[in-house]
Amino acid sequence: MTSKTHILVVEDEPKLASLVRDYLVAGGFEASILEQGVGAVEWIREHQPAAILLDINLPGLDGLSICREVRAFSDVPILLVTARVEEIDRLLGLELGADDYICKPFSPREVVARVRAVLRRSNPATARPSPAVELDEDRFEARIHGQALNLTPVEFRLLGKLASQPGRVFARDQLIGALYADHRVVSDRTVDSHVKNLRRKLSDLGYDPISAVYGVGYRFEWEQPQAENQG
Ligand code: CA
Repeated sequence: MTSKTHILVVEDEPKLASLVRDYLVAGGFEASILEQGVGAVEWIREHQPAAILLDINLPGLDGLSICREVRAFSDVPILLVTARVEEIDRLLGLELGADDYICKPFSPREVVARVRAVLRRSNPATARPSPAVELDEDRFEARIHGQALNLTPVEFRLLGKLASQPGRVFARDQLIGALYADHRVVSDRTVDSHVKNLRRKLSDLGYDPISAVYGVGYRFEWEQPQAENQG
């Protein structure tokens, strides 16, 4: 008997749902489709899929409510699917506990890659915590794998925020809140430039754990190949 990793696709557009299912199956997964929100929570409780691709706009119960209800009893990785990229900032602010956000239209191939990524991160055997980053808050001293980083206070707080939850996507707004104690108003571009400087300092030591998530913000991930292994 084979036990393939079971992915649930909650999607009310039948063509899109079966396209995604086909790609998941081709990728070695077992996939089930639910075309409406009503009953999804009960289904998930009963079948315990390994990950859920969850459309937000559904007839009956919407994806956000499903996400909240599922989080009350399960840490299953959830990838929220939205038709509007500008909605992602708002979603992040709601702190729904979703693991990733995907915007339509998407390539099914990319969706399969993102499913693999959340599964990898959720597996305790492969999802490393981040003992590699040490932060001495009193002295603003940061180390990565024991190597000292020479950071400004803003870069120090930025690294602390991102590394506190590896794999989690932080919106620029959320990062701004962490950067300045005085709640000053800064632009997204200011955040981008601090991130750029931080990434340069990490890459000088051969590390590239921070990645940009298009239209959303940034995340810190140990699964990122290290700079010295690229090319
Ligand atoms: Ca929909």
